[in-house]
Formats: sequence, structure tokens, C-alpha cells
Amino acid sequence: MLTNVNRVSKLRVITMANVEGKTTVEKDGYLVVGKAEGVVEIDVDTFLCKGCGICVEMCPRKVFEWSKELSEKGVHYPVPVHAEKCVKCKLCELLCPDFAIAVRW
Ligand code: SF4
Ligand code: SF4
Repeated sequence: MLTNVNRVSKLRVITMANVEGKTTVEKDGYLVVGKAEGVVEIDVDTFLCKGCGICVEMCPRKVFEWSKELSEKGVHYPVPVHAEKCVKCKLCELLCPDFAIAVRW
């Protein structure tokens, strides 16, 4: 099981995960963790996020936890630490009022 998150950018959190194993790769200048295929990638733009909590509350699989540190906006932001539980419903992406989340696979 993989629940790894690397926050190497000041502006984004990207998590790729599956239930079998992990590989760290670099994509678009960011470190991502997961396998190259068969994974879900949950990308949170912490610059856009205002910390409203809609995604945290509405995710049916409780994928997100709040960051310990503050973003540039001075708010806690969601970190997809349980990305391996994601069912790819895209609810978080659709409900985010600031278009701060992208879920890809
Ligand atoms: S796509 Fe669905 S299950 Fe995955 S993190 Fe977003 S709300 Fe949660
Ligand atoms: S719904 Fe969007 S703005 Fe609100 S906490 Fe989640 S990512 Fe941030």
C-alpha cells in the first residue's frame, strides 16, 4: 500500500498511488510517487486553494488530510495522503470552487 506524498514545490502537491507498489518519478518538474501506469494522480494547487474544506468533507473515501504547514495564502490545504483509496469519482475536482484540484489517471 502506498500513502506517500512529496511536497517538493511551494505551489503544488501531487500524489500518484496504487495499492501495489511505488516508483518515484519526476513529472513537469515535480516529484510524484506511484507507478507509471494504473495509478491515480491527485494534484492540489496550493496557490489556488483557499482552504474551504469542501474537498476534505465531500470526498467519499476520506482521501485528504489537512496540511500541517500553511500555504502562501496563509491557509491549511488538503493533502491527498490516502490517495490509494481514491475511486476516481472526481467529486473533489468538480466541487472545488477555485479549480485547485485535478484528478487524472
Ligand atoms: S476523485 Fe473522488 S475519491 Fe478521489 S480524492 Fe476526489 S473525491 Fe475523493
Ligand atoms: S475545495 Fe478547493 S479551495 Fe476548498 S480546500 Fe479543497 S482544494 Fe482548497
